[in-house]
Amino acid sequence: MPRTHILSPGYGSGKVASTVSLIEAEGALIVVDPGMVSSRAAILDPLAALGYDPSEVTDVIISHHHPDHTINVALFPEAVLHDHWATYRNDEWNSRPAEGVVVAPGVTLWETPGHTPQDITTIVETEDGVTVFTHLWTSENYPPEDRLATDPEALHRSRARVLEIAEIVVPGHGPAFRVSEETPR
Ligand SMILES: [Zn+2]
Ligand SMILES: [Zn+2]
Repeated sequence: MPRTHILSPGYGSGKVASTVSLIEAEGALIVVDPGMVSSRAAILDPLAALGYDPSEVTDVIISHHHPDHTINVALFPEAVLHDHWATYRNDEWNSRPAEGVVVAPGVTLWETPGHTPQDITTIVETEDGVTVFTHLWTSENYPPEDRLATDPEALHRSRARVLEIAEIVVPGHGPAFRVSEETPR
């Protein structure tokens, strides 16, 4: 089963940093949302502490296209980049819809528009439960309405869909939290 780690928990009041995560899966080492952080060491030092060099990262997934989630995508020279409509590596652009793509065993992408039309959620089966990496929630305690959402109705539909299976949420800007009755939908 895949194992997940938060390399850098994000924040969003005052300064801005994305939640940067690592997924260890069979045959793949995946970074999710290498975006804004206080310095690159906030990504690279935790990665090194887990025993990995940036060149060992095989895949990078971005939850959507905002720079606070993408600015450090080039830190991983060997990685394939995944977004909502393609994969990218060096000068190769391979178009495909993200919906249902299996990046590695137990690691699946869903298209979950709402915050932006390009949002995707990474669904990971772990021993602790189904863990989702997504910007459908900014943080656990963020007000229920995402005031930056381009399509609030779609956002609520996407949340409802994800909550059918999600047990743990890794939000865009904060530490992971367990789904509860209080989780905004
Ligand atoms: Zn955003
Ligand atoms: Zn964000």
